[in-house]
Amino acid sequence: MSRNLYIETFGCQMNERDSEIMAQLLGEESYLETAGPEEADCIVVNTCTIRGKAAQKAYSLLGSYKILKERNPELVIVVTGCVAQQDGAALLARMPHLDLVVGPQNIYRLPELVAAAREKAARATAVELSPAFTIPAFLPKLEGGVAHKRFVTIMQGCNNFCTYCVVPHTRGREVSRRPEDILAEVSHLADHGVREITLLGQNVNSYGLDRPETARVTFPALLRQVAEIERLSRVRFTTSHPKDLSPELIRTLAEIDKLCPHFHLPVQSGSDLVLARMNRKYTRGDYLEKVAALRQSCPEIAITTDIIVGFPGESEADFEQTMELLELVRYDSAFSFKYSDRPLAAAADFADKVPEEHKSARLARLQARQEEISSEILQTLIGQTVEVMVEGRSKAAGGQWSGRTPENRIVNFPAPEELQPGQLLRVKLEETCRHSLRGVIAWSQPKLTARRHQGQETILQLR
Ligand code: SAM
Ligand code: SF4
Repeated sequence: MSRNLYIETFGCQMNERDSEIMAQLLGEESYLETAGPEEADCIVVNTCTIRGKAAQKAYSLLGSYKILKERNPELVIVVTGCVAQQDGAALLARMPHLDLVVGPQNIYRLPELVAAAREKAARATAVELSPAFTIPAFLPKLEGGVAHKRFVTIMQGCNNFCTYCVVPHTRGREVSRRPEDILAEVSHLADHGVREITLLGQNVNSYGLDRPETARVTFPALLRQVAEIERLSRVRFTTSHPKDLSPELIRTLAEIDKLCPHFHLPVQSGSDLVLARMNRKYTRGDYLEKVAALRQSCPEIAITTDIIVGFPGESEADFEQTMELLELVRYDSAFSFKYSDRPLAAAADFADKVPEEHKSARLARLQARQEEISSEILQTLIGQTVEVMVEGRSKAAGGQWSGRTPENRIVNFPAPEELQPGQLLRVKLEETCRHSLRGVIAWSQPKLTARRHQGQETILQLR
């Protein structure tokens, strides 16, 4: 007998990937995914607690499921992700309609835990963070239409303890997946039509450092092996901690064609005083040197970042240094956030909290300037012909087709015929929109760059 499963996912790409894994594990126990929570026999809420707002959203959704449990006492409600790890048994005490609280290291036990909850109607937590944890070998089940791009987790956890951040407390220490498991997963995905892979970790540059027992495969070595997998057109990765960005990685990026020239390099602040209090372990000067090295070896590279404004003690002068850094680096885009106290993170106890109105004003100023820089950069690309990987039809661009360049820029373009997601085209850029570009397929340019050839047959058919 099949049962209905509903999964709600908050937060980062790691959580999205964990939700896929949980759906597959429960699918093997005859749980089929359903579109809404009302008809579910099991609800999983995969939560995020990176900022106060994210956690608040999860609590309010979980609260709203009380009525479903009252209507159907057989319903099993599970909380997973970082709120589960952070709050543990306190969540069960706070919300009596919840059945299970399962931390990120324990999701592979979900089938057994859900079965026990259903049969014994016993409420439980599984939030142990073990230093001996290893990520089980696990191949995604691929049926029906497989997306042309996928995320592959290469490591979990973080050892860095940035003072604002909850991740090391909720995801534990760094645990790298076995390289052979990663390569098996990527080959399996490529065999099923996946053309673009993004390798995921909180700090991918320290991949492998926790596995001294094996002949160490560094992150650049892993990238080289992944890029050798045939049928893959593009390989991306995120996130890189600036302190661990090595010359070897910069060389690898320049040498390997399939590695996309896009680097997400979170800076967090432009002030050395703030960086030190954040425990980031690099200075503004170190960071700028790494940006220069990236640009020297790969001039077309697009650099993006994360920035926090209003960290405890951040003065107007500190903030001005962050604004100045925007001018020096000229990021393609930036994710920017107001600092938010997290209960387990050290900075929650720091003095000199910045008033909310100052944080809001700084964020607005930073975002407005970054918008201008982003659109100035897009403007410089007009007239170029670029490689685009087709993603699908764009709702925002009135049904035109949409795709991404290797630098991860969005390009919309009309096409006379059906295209396939994952196909590579050449598109001549004609105008900029708010966060994207518009162009036309460059039919007169039959030759794709030698480095990315996967979609060539399809282009020729279309002409
Ligand atoms: N591991 C990555 C890194 O080191 O950049 C990403 C970690 S986190 C999932 C993504 C971003 O959230 C961080 O880069 C930071 O800018 C932001 N962030 C983390 N904790 C925060 C907090 N307490 N308040 C505001 N923003 C925060
Ligand atoms: Fe959080 Fe810092 Fe680790 Fe990133 S590197 S996950 S910001 S502690």
